[in-house]
This record gives sequence, C-alpha cells and structure tokens, in this order.
Amino acid sequence: MDGCIFCKIVSNEITAKKIFEDENSIAFLDLYPAAKGHTLVIPKNHYATLLDIPEMELKEVSQAIQKVAAAVVKATNAEGFNLVQNNREAAGQVVHHIHFHIVPRHKDDGLKLAFGSKEAEPSELAHWETQIKKHI
Ligand SMILES: [Zn+2]
Repeated sequence: MDGCIFCKIVSNEITAKKIFEDENSIAFLDLYPAAKGHTLVIPKNHYATLLDIPEMELKEVSQAIQKVAAAVVKATNAEGFNLVQNNREAAGQVVHHIHFHIVPRHKDDGLKLAFGSKEAEPSELAHWETQIKKHI
C-alpha cells in the first residue's frame, strides 16, 4: 500500500533489522523498543487490523510469531514475553499495517508497556539482530 512504512520494509524500500522472513511474514526489530530485543512480526500483505486480515494469513503469521518469539526469548534470556497487538488509533496503533509486538520480559523489570517512547541506538539494534537470528 502506498505510503505504508511497513510495506516499504517488506519491499526493501526502507531498511530494517530483519530477523526472520518466510513466504508470508517478516519480523524485524522495533526502532522504538519497549525492551531490548523488542521485535515486530507482520504479514507481507497489507491489512490494517486484526479485523481485516484473512483467517488463513493470520494462521500463517501466527506460526511466524511463535517461531520468532522463541528466538527472541532465547537471545534475550527473557523469563517471559508480552505479545501485543493494537488495533486502530484509539488502541494505540501508530502504523496501520497489522503488526504483533514481541516484548521480552524479566521479573521485576519495572516495564510499563509504552510504545514509541525512545529510539534505539543503531549498535544496540545490530547486536539484537545478530543474537536473535542465531536462534531462528
Ligand atoms: Zn502496509
């Protein structure tokens, strides 16, 4: 879809720290991470929200989410993770291409989930790109 930043990542018009790609989905690091290793999984096709994506494609993306979440947890030594998916602006959706946040968590990390608060350092993104890819 024209003007969609995530579609541009899919088509490589915009670079991202991609850590996984298959026929239908890609995963890449969030530029404004809520925690180290915060990763997004999206379908390659453009759908705005969970209410728009066809069931079969949702199923395929779910398989990618499970695989990527396992790698994120291993790479970050996380004790848990949040899977967050916002729909429409009222719910905090900023990019209107359906995406799933995988946020690694540690006990007592004090994290109150907030998105888009602070841009990551490039060196930090490069580190987590390498570490998570090792576990895919
Ligand atoms: Zn899009």
